[in-house]
Amino acid sequence: MRWDLSVFVKSVSPEKIKAELDSMVRAANVIRDIYSGQVGSMDAAGVRKLLESLDSFALEFDGVLGYCSLRYSADSTDDMAKQLHGAMRNAWVKAGQALAFAEVELGKLLLEKPDLPTHPDLHNYHHYLERALNRAPHLLSETEEQLVMSKDRNGIEAWSLFHGDWLSTRNFRMRIDGQEQELNYGQAIAHFTSPDRELRKEAYRTVMGGLGKDEIVFSSAIRAVCSDHLAMCEWRKYPTPMTQSLMSNDVEEKAVISLMKVVERNADLYRRYLRVKAKLLDVERLGNWDLMAPLPQASESAYDWDLSRKLVTNAYANFDPEFGRWTDEMYSKRHIDGEVRNGKSPGAFCHSWLSGRSAYILQSYNNRISDVYTQAHEMGHAVHAYLYSRAQKPANCDIGSAIAECGSIFGELLLTEQLLAEASSTAEKQVALATVLDELGVAVFVVGARYWFEEDMYKAIKRGQFLDSETLGDLWTSARSRVFADEVEWLPEMRYDWTRPVHYYMANYRFYNYPYIFAQLFVFSLYRIYKEQGKGFVPKLRRLLEAGSSRSPADLAKDLGFDIATEEFWEKGMRQAEEFLGMLEETL
Ligand SMILES: [Zn+2]
Repeated sequence: MRWDLSVFVKSVSPEKIKAELDSMVRAANVIRDIYSGQVGSMDAAGVRKLLESLDSFALEFDGVLGYCSLRYSADSTDDMAKQLHGAMRNAWVKAGQALAFAEVELGKLLLEKPDLPTHPDLHNYHHYLERALNRAPHLLSETEEQLVMSKDRNGIEAWSLFHGDWLSTRNFRMRIDGQEQELNYGQAIAHFTSPDRELRKEAYRTVMGGLGKDEIVFSSAIRAVCSDHLAMCEWRKYPTPMTQSLMSNDVEEKAVISLMKVVERNADLYRRYLRVKAKLLDVERLGNWDLMAPLPQASESAYDWDLSRKLVTNAYANFDPEFGRWTDEMYSKRHIDGEVRNGKSPGAFCHSWLSGRSAYILQSYNNRISDVYTQAHEMGHAVHAYLYSRAQKPANCDIGSAIAECGSIFGELLLTEQLLAEASSTAEKQVALATVLDELGVAVFVVGARYWFEEDMYKAIKRGQFLDSETLGDLWTSARSRVFADEVEWLPEMRYDWTRPVHYYMANYRFYNYPYIFAQLFVFSLYRIYKEQGKGFVPKLRRLLEAGSSRSPADLAKDLGFDIATEEFWEKGMRQAEEFLGMLEETL
């Protein structure tokens, strides 16, 4: 299935799209002309008017922005898509520069009137303003903020685009079924999860070896992005390199510290699973190429598109019939692009379409069980978008990853439940449970190692170390062994695995890792409550997802009776993981 993007815009003619982008810049300048210089003397009613006009602006142009960005993700080799994407980014920077006054002036006003967020006239914007107040001490002057945007455009944003373009245009020569083949990056990494053990190993060796040859490209990129971040931390007076991420994810450092302690303490739980996995794969010791291997019990390409659609839709419908209807609509209205093809952005994502109160999903569907899981995952993001875009103003749809991943991971567990219920053999149960534990292993433990790697990179830069590829490889392998100890054999080429995760290279997206761990364990706890409370839990999850960013994760957890700053809370999620592991061990 290819998606239909035409609903995003009045006309798909490139001239009309460019005209729409121009009118976006004009609209931003109009807002600036009306409000700039006025915010400092505003009362609550004035602030509400300003925020409402920013909300209308966001809704009016979110279609054209979505069109340009998605068309490019779907095919970066399409020249017109490239042109429109470039035009969109230019227009976006200009609009951002015009509107930069709002955050700066609002920040100053909030520092003078810190009670403003609780004013009854602003109840719709309560938490939005609280967050703005937290950011306020770190803002620069308006001119400096404009300058930052302008240097980012050709600085860290360019590095991030370059990283994506470089990856998606690499070719890899591999022997498959006795034949030499030339594969693009997406095709090559698809073999990471091949049922053929030798092929998996070969795919890792080829891809990681190939990326390792380009280490100069990747180390230059990651060094520039990280050094830029540290320089900006000084300008903005952030106490630690993680502060910006904590603010944008709306969580406090003590919650992350408790979370990561629990991850390190439970690494042996993951290693216990890896020993079970070795038995299921019938190997002495796992190699890194086995970590995400499908079980031999799982049939290859058993899940065609229609079966996936049925499984995913039923999984959501059994939880809540409305979730099921929205899921079905995603397919019937062609909001999903599943076709495997060249030039398509690697990986999968869900794009929220606020003005359409819906979402769009991109993935490369290869008929495997993991593709069904990816679809269920992205569909959870879509259902989340359906809920918050109906309940919240755009200002409250800026959701940090910790909560943004809740619907998606919960959806994966709903799919597991569906697969376990339909399983007619021990092998099928093993496949479903191993898939969940593989996902958990990656999202909590592998990603945990990536978190420690990122932490170590900033420490190294601060020590004055130069991040060349050798140093990066050392930091990478040492972070890795905090999770795996000696449980797994690594190909030497895996030293270069830091070259791949796109988030390390994304602009203004530092410390993206812990939110995944947060979300995974948070959802495992939620799932445990769902199993205890049954259908009474459904409205609770809806309320949590509907809240968008209008409340903090700590606040949302408090509603469910949890304190996320405690280690006890995170251990709860681990015990759910242990329960799944116990179920799997029983099948041996
Ligand atoms: Zn996700």
